[in-house]
This record gives sequence, C-alpha cells and structure tokens, in this order.
Amino acid sequence: MRQDAAARPPRTSSQPIRHTSLQVVLRSIYDHSPISRADVARRTGLTRTTVSDVVDQLLGAGLVREIGLGQSTGGKAPILLEVPPDARHLIGIEVGDSRLTGAIVNLRGEIRQAIEMPLDGRDGELALERLDELVERLVASTDRPLLGIGLGTPGLIDTSTGTVRWAVNLDWRDLPLGDHLRDRARLPVYVANDSHAAALGEHTFGGHVGVASMIVIRVGRGIGAGIVLDGRLYQGDAFGAGEIGHTAVAGNERPCRCGGVGCLETLASTRATVQRAREQAPFAPESMLHGRVLDDLDFDDLIAAFHAGDELAREIVADAAHQIGRSIGGLIGALNIRNVVLVGEMTRLGEPWLSIVRREAHRSALTLLADDTRIEIGRVERNLVVVGAAALLMTRELGLSLVG
Ligand SMILES: [Zn+2]
Repeated sequence: MRQDAAARPPRTSSQPIRHTSLQVVLRSIYDHSPISRADVARRTGLTRTTVSDVVDQLLGAGLVREIGLGQSTGGKAPILLEVPPDARHLIGIEVGDSRLTGAIVNLRGEIRQAIEMPLDGRDGELALERLDELVERLVASTDRPLLGIGLGTPGLIDTSTGTVRWAVNLDWRDLPLGDHLRDRARLPVYVANDSHAAALGEHTFGGHVGVASMIVIRVGRGIGAGIVLDGRLYQGDAFGAGEIGHTAVAGNERPCRCGGVGCLETLASTRATVQRAREQAPFAPESMLHGRVLDDLDFDDLIAAFHAGDELAREIVADAAHQIGRSIGGLIGALNIRNVVLVGEMTRLGEPWLSIVRREAHRSALTLLADDTRIEIGRVERNLVVVGAAALLMTRELGLSLVG
C-alpha cells in the first residue's frame, strides 16, 4: 500500500508516548500482535472503553494499525491490531575506535540502512564533525518519522544528560554530546557507554529467551562490561558499572592509556596480546611469529598462530584468557548473575580461548555459584552496539523492549 505524502505523519513526529495507559496498551499490542481490543483489555486489566480510546490515539499516531478480522467467539468477529514494524524508524550509532557506524533500525530491530564512516585518526572536534555528518546522512536516508537517536560511545557517559565525561581515545572530556545532537537534529537523543549498549543489544537480540539478568563482557582493544538486571540496563550510581577494564590486577605494573598502572586492559585486551607478541617474538626462534616485521604483526597474525598451535601464541592467549576468567569470577561473586556472555574481537579465538576463560572463572568463584553459571560467546554477529543503542532509545521513548 502506497502512502501519499500528505497522509504521512509529520517528519520529526514522535510526540513522546509517556502516558502510562498509552505505553501499557502499545506494549501489549507490540508483544502479542495480532491482538483484538478485547484481548488487550484482558491482558492489561484496563477497561474496554479505556483501551478503545487509547487505540484510537495510537491509530491516529500511526503506531498501530488494523489488519483484518480474527476468529469470532460467537458474536461479531474482532478486529485485529498490530504495530507496523516501520511505523517509526530509529537511528542507532556506534562510535568506534577507528570508525563510526550508523544505521536506520525499525521497531523490530531490523536494519534498513547502514552507513560506515572511517575516522582516519580524527579525534576531538574533528571526530564530532564527522559524527554530525553521519547523523545528517542517516536522517536524510529515511522518509519515515524518526523516533530519535541512540548512540553508544566509549568512555564514561552520563546517560541522564548525554554528556561524555571522558573518552580517552576520542579526546572527549565533558562533552555535551546529547545536547549537541539534540539541537542539530531536533530529535530525542540517548547516549550510553558502548559496552552498556552492547549488553542491551545482546540481551535483546541474542535469542536469550527467558533470561532476565546477564553480564556481557566486551573484549577487544579495550575491555568493558554491561550488566542487564531483571531486563533493565544497570548503569551504576555514576554510570560506570562494568568498567572492569581499568581495575588493577595484582602484580601488574604496565602503564595504561587511562593514566593508571596495572589495568586488566593492559593484560587481556587484543591490544595487549599483540603488544606482548611484538615484545616476545624476537626471542622465540621456534615461533612462527619470529622474524616478522614487528610493526606489521597484528591480531589476525596472532589468531592464525594460535590456531596453528604455535607455542608462543598459545601462551600469550592463555595468559590473557586467565585474566578475563578471574575477572568474571569476581563478577559472579559480586552479582550472582548466571548468564555471562563474551563479545568483541577477542572472541574470534573461539572455543579454545573460551574454555580457558571458563576454567579460570570457575577456579576464582565460589564453586556452588560458578557451577550454576553459563559462560558463552555472544550470538549477535553484527552491529551489536548499533542495535543496542536503538533498543535503549526505544525503551526510553516508547516504553517497549525491542523484540526481533
Ligand atoms: Zn586503565
């Protein structure tokens, strides 16, 4: 069915749906569609009159549509309702170390359009300009009403205001990113730490049916965790929950890019393993990494050597996996969350790496708790932070938990 332009909802639509009964009815239709008004009333405990009024408002806003008749249970056949997946579009963005990735996502978390832009070493003001450009291109790429922008970025983020308190790599300090984008795009904006967004993405789209709480640990060039507690993202008192990458490991004296010394990240990140391979390869004549031009030696080489059974590579990977396992042991003890999911570049090392992580996590936690814990590799293969940021936006704006 073609929509004529005049009948479309306004361009930057989205009156916030904050009214409680609106949210309750919308969620019921979203979760259980196709569903009749009578069934919505039964499920929500609202009166049929209230449901009818609210559905009229939602129909008017284009957030709900009638899709035909259901089975009659004696009387008139009921009209069935659903939330059209493309009734609103969302913008999800990941600010990465070396590139920006943005996507138009619909209300079922399907990516309609994705744009990648390399940062080419830009940071500070220049990285921000690049981000503005990405947002403009994304806004222009859809003719649907936009719900807003969800953004995952490294660093300590005050999600209540969208302020980046500190992002080392990007050289952003006390940057009012949320206000900046809100002013430019005239849309609601939510900014979260990238690991927090990843956790929400994995919890929402990883097919973890019936799993209420989950720890998601991202191990890549940096290390960070996100915690979902009873279906909600837990960000901590100052939005720093899960910042495990910069906790010190006993006996470790390596300086860290955060300015501290001995951080987990300096031992267990991909950056750390590559660094160590470059340091040790010249002294390991047996290793296939020996004799390499050290500046060219990267994580792909380390993975190849590891899978080929190279002794040096195995030792480096095992030490890194040990540290992650220990850290997980601590989290299991502190939170007693049964589902731990690992995501990020390091998981490309696969099952052999995971089994060391598991073993060490078990050794460092109380056996009874550890036996109960599942540690696995994440299931969302692409754009985890992007869809996670979109999921955050959707929860905050519509009161819906995205479901695929
Ligand atoms: Zn650090």
